[in-house]
Amino acid sequence: MMNSARDITGQDDAQAGDVRDLLQKILARLPHSFSLELFVREGEVESFAESTWEFLRLVNEAAPRIRIERLDLSGQRAGELGITRSPTLVFDTEVASIRWLGAPLGEEARAFVQALLMFGYRDSGLKEDSRPILERLEKSRQLMIFVSPTCPYCPQQAVNGIRAALARPDLVSLEIIDIQAFPDLAEEYKAFSVPMSFANRVLIAQGAQPEELFLTSVLNMEQAAYFIPETRSERMETDVVIIGGGPAGLTAGIYASRSGLKTVVVEKGQLGGQVATTPVVENYPGLTQIGGKSLVDIMVSHALEYVRILPDEEVLDIARGEPITVTTNRRTLTARAVILATGARYRQLNIPGEARLAGRGVSYCSTCDGPLFKGRSVLMVGGGDSAVTEALHLHQIGVQVTLVHRRAELRAQKHLVGSLQEQDIPVLYETVLEEIKGEDRVREAVVRDKAGGRTRSLPCDGVFIAIGYEPAVDLARKIGLELTPDGFIKRDARHRTNLPGIYSAGDVEGGYKQIVTAAGQGAEAAISVFEDLVSPYWSNQTKQTAPQVS
Ligand code: NAP
Repeated sequence: MMNSARDITGQDDAQAGDVRDLLQKILARLPHSFSLELFVREGEVESFAESTWEFLRLVNEAAPRIRIERLDLSGQRAGELGITRSPTLVFDTEVASIRWLGAPLGEEARAFVQALLMFGYRDSGLKEDSRPILERLEKSRQLMIFVSPTCPYCPQQAVNGIRAALARPDLVSLEIIDIQAFPDLAEEYKAFSVPMSFANRVLIAQGAQPEELFLTSVLNMEQAAYFIPETRSERMETDVVIIGGGPAGLTAGIYASRSGLKTVVVEKGQLGGQVATTPVVENYPGLTQIGGKSLVDIMVSHALEYVRILPDEEVLDIARGEPITVTTNRRTLTARAVILATGARYRQLNIPGEARLAGRGVSYCSTCDGPLFKGRSVLMVGGGDSAVTEALHLHQIGVQVTLVHRRAELRAQKHLVGSLQEQDIPVLYETVLEEIKGEDRVREAVVRDKAGGRTRSLPCDGVFIAIGYEPAVDLARKIGLELTPDGFIKRDARHRTNLPGIYSAGDVEGGYKQIVTAAGQGAEAAISVFEDLVSPYWSNQTKQTAPQVS
């Protein structure tokens, strides 16, 4: 427990005078004045309140531009600000909304002094890369960061919060809460390990984060695993452009960059592709069991060590030539080779009601929407690995799920079918879904029994559809790539397409559609690109424009 100002420095023999001199050195030249209001419960001796006030007096002696005021918790000002706890330190409300609940001493003194500097210079000190993240914030965030005076990692997170509140006073407010002073709040938020950060009462970070990750967590309201700096240039010269940021594209990016090629990955949708919405992955070597999103986070973080990623960016066209020109909705890239790793998207049943009720009970993603159906009954259509894995997932989270499959036998792997039986999940074999009904949301589904031809209506709250994927080949078609009869990109064993300099990788090529195979194909394609750029087959084969694709 902190009892006197000398505890601030952590040196037992430090005198208040030394602290004052130190503060004077740091704070002497602040260009702006500001106020600090300390709310305490007068009449009661509280060590946290008294040591905070003692510290504030030293601050004021060292830097008179910092005005301090001690106010009673029962007074009008406390009522106006809705302050109920002692001690609560309020930074100048004209500048930003920052409150410190507890004593800003011990390790926390570092963050506190930084806050004084930021207020005194009216500068949040945010890094260049971080600013655009906060600029994207549109809704308010009430941040709470739980800290402790004995936690050496806490000041970093507290400073992150202070910077955010200072940079966006219109939307961000901050409370830094000392768990030693207010164990009841720590108990309420289960903040038993500090620092722990909340936004609008939602946990957004455990532990201290780099500034960019903290701000991304604040923006997205969830713990961010990586940060992608914004790229503003309208023209970029590269060696390789990879289209698609799933396992194939990210792996290709890592391999191409590590071969010394300047590489950019462009992704228009969700990084990680379908893996990002896969509930659990149990067959990626080295990882016994991992959530799809966590696996994606690991892959993206790894790729970012090497490669520039352009998220939320769509490739509109590719013009062949030397160099190849890739036009996106944001810029023009030039490249010596392009890898299409555009993946595949959910296949649809194309039955009445499906499109109309999409998002209102019809779903293609059990990870995303499953929790909304807890305690309710749903159908899962399909008989492959996806349908069975997702049915198991829904069952596990408390959804009453029935599998509907058009044949008498499931296509899914044996062990998955075994788990389905073990869990007693009902399966309607040789059954076809014909219509999904409901005015405002899914209420029933019409199914036909193929053997008897009988049609009946099943009451349900949702219909999940997992019947495979359609390859994303619009761009491939547009630039004249040859496709297989199944509609996938046709390529040779080295992932070369029929057009020189254009390669493919991953689910867009068809095949097994496993994360590990997609990653393998990405690696192969990148190695192939490297070898071809060293010794271009298109120059060696005079006038022979493309390899034989299988
Ligand atoms: P899939 O293997 O192609 O299976 C699609 C399923 O949907 C089949 O059972 C198919 O029935 C059925 N289907 C297709 N069109 C239909 C329609 N119009 N009406 C009714 N049913 C229809 O697709 P997937 O299950 O999404 O798997 C894709 C790939 O990802 C596979 O290679 C799979 O192994 C892999 N994957 C692996 C895992 C894992 O290892 N944990 C998880 C998910 C996916 P039929 O059987 O009658 O053709």
